[in-house]
Amino acid sequence: MDEITRDVVVIGAGAAGLTAANDLRKAGLSVVVLEARDRVGGRLWTDVVEGAMLELGGQWVSPDQQALIDTVADLGLSTYSRYREGDSVYVGPDGEAKRFTGEMFPVAPETERAIDEITARLDAMVAEIDPDKPWEHPNAAEWDTISWDAWLRAQTDDDEAVRNLAFATGSAMLTKPTHTFSLLQSLLMAASAGSYSHLVDADFILDKRVVGGLQQVPELLAERLGDDVLLNQPVRRIVWGPESAAADRPADAVTGRRVDDLRALTARVEAAKSSTGVTVTTDDVTVRARFAILALAPVLYPRISFDPPLPRLQHQMHQHISMGFVIKVHAVYDRPFWREQGLSGTAFSPYELSHEAYDNTNHGDERGTLVGFVSDQNADDLFRVSAEERKERILESLSHYYGPEAKNPVVYYESDWGSEEWTRGAYAASFDLGGLQRYGADLREPVGPLHLACSDMAGAGYQHVDGAIRQGHRAADEILERARG
Ligand code: FAD
Repeated sequence: MDEITRDVVVIGAGAAGLTAANDLRKAGLSVVVLEARDRVGGRLWTDVVEGAMLELGGQWVSPDQQALIDTVADLGLSTYSRYREGDSVYVGPDGEAKRFTGEMFPVAPETERAIDEITARLDAMVAEIDPDKPWEHPNAAEWDTISWDAWLRAQTDDDEAVRNLAFATGSAMLTKPTHTFSLLQSLLMAASAGSYSHLVDADFILDKRVVGGLQQVPELLAERLGDDVLLNQPVRRIVWGPESAAADRPADAVTGRRVDDLRALTARVEAAKSSTGVTVTTDDVTVRARFAILALAPVLYPRISFDPPLPRLQHQMHQHISMGFVIKVHAVYDRPFWREQGLSGTAFSPYELSHEAYDNTNHGDERGTLVGFVSDQNADDLFRVSAEERKERILESLSHYYGPEAKNPVVYYESDWGSEEWTRGAYAASFDLGGLQRYGADLREPVGPLHLACSDMAGAGYQHVDGAIRQGHRAADEILERARG
């Protein structure tokens, strides 16, 4: 077992962890990053599948994502715009594909009116919300107890309007059924992008990509840290607080089964909360440090054995956060055939298996790539059928937007982040009904020497790489303040 001593140990080499590690290193602290996987980047992953370069995880950059834009510029990366010339396609309840331009779907005038009115209402509510503290809004408690679906249905009887409004934060963002999360959670999602209107504007939210893929951000950040990023090092155990100095004693010496044990355990937790010092162990390495940053999705904290255990608030809180689930589908064709028909590739339908799809052709590539998304229960259902049937059904859905040629890609791949042990879903995590108002204020609070950073706990940039970077900067700042104090 190798022994390492550093000022700070960072757990997770995603955008959040690597941002924090770079900030700390620049400020003169020594760091090491422990990463479970055999690569850096976490939910950012560019790979070549059957000769096609695919961005399997996060890829788009929007104009409000200043932290990400700054990092991309700092790393010397260049960006290009998503292809958007020509008509978009919308499939309504009658199953007919209709072309349109602009942001409003081609729906009946009364449906359009309902969508416009409710969008204006949502924009006004979102404008009152601080994405970093949505729980502070005077109506937070009320808005967190009503589901997004129930609130929308209380605004209008127009089912098509509800489905179209619901899908922006539902299938397209939180990737959970809209009855499972609250209006407040939905408003946070919109506030994190500036407004509800921003979120539904594909030209805004899916604006640019990085030439060569967004995974270069974590790769170049890791390069700056050199040998201080260790791969294949899943963290198994964290001893924190005063006892970290003597972390070689066996785990679970206090079981908490008897009342006296439980009292002793509570005292240990309290002592740990007001101290520094951690000992972090993987299968190969032991790191002793003053502080740790947990830069992994909070749904994965229970994979680590904490000694003493985390306080009861964290135990409770982390059970109310869960990952959404979406399949990102990549279909590569010998040419971008839809462009010949005057189509931009942008397609939506709350009635289709693939509720949204886009031209995702790589910079300078002669071949054409479409990317489609299948979310929440539709995604669950598809993983109950064979791989062949799944592919057939997804391509059938894409053909409803682009015609029969869509059924014959030369490369086809489904990103299945639900199967990834060190992520467990996509795109990110959100609270269940009532959880945001109940626990949100504590989500980012450090616990003793343990600081927390991840896109799942971001305000601005929530669920996005921008949020991960912002959280990495914040966790590093917290530690620097304590280290200097
Ligand atoms: P992660 O990337 O999850 O990094 C956490 C790291 O911790 C991982 O590397 C993991 O392996 C590691 N880890 C976990 N447990 C342990 C352990 N016990 N020990 C050591 N290491 C551990 N965002 C956008 O901005 N634009 C997009 O277009 C976009 N599209 C997306 C599409 C998909 C399919 C997915 C999955 C995500 C998308 N996102 C997008 C979201 C974005 O990718 C994430 O929000 C962001 O990358 C998360 O970064 P992070 O550092 O917070 O967490």
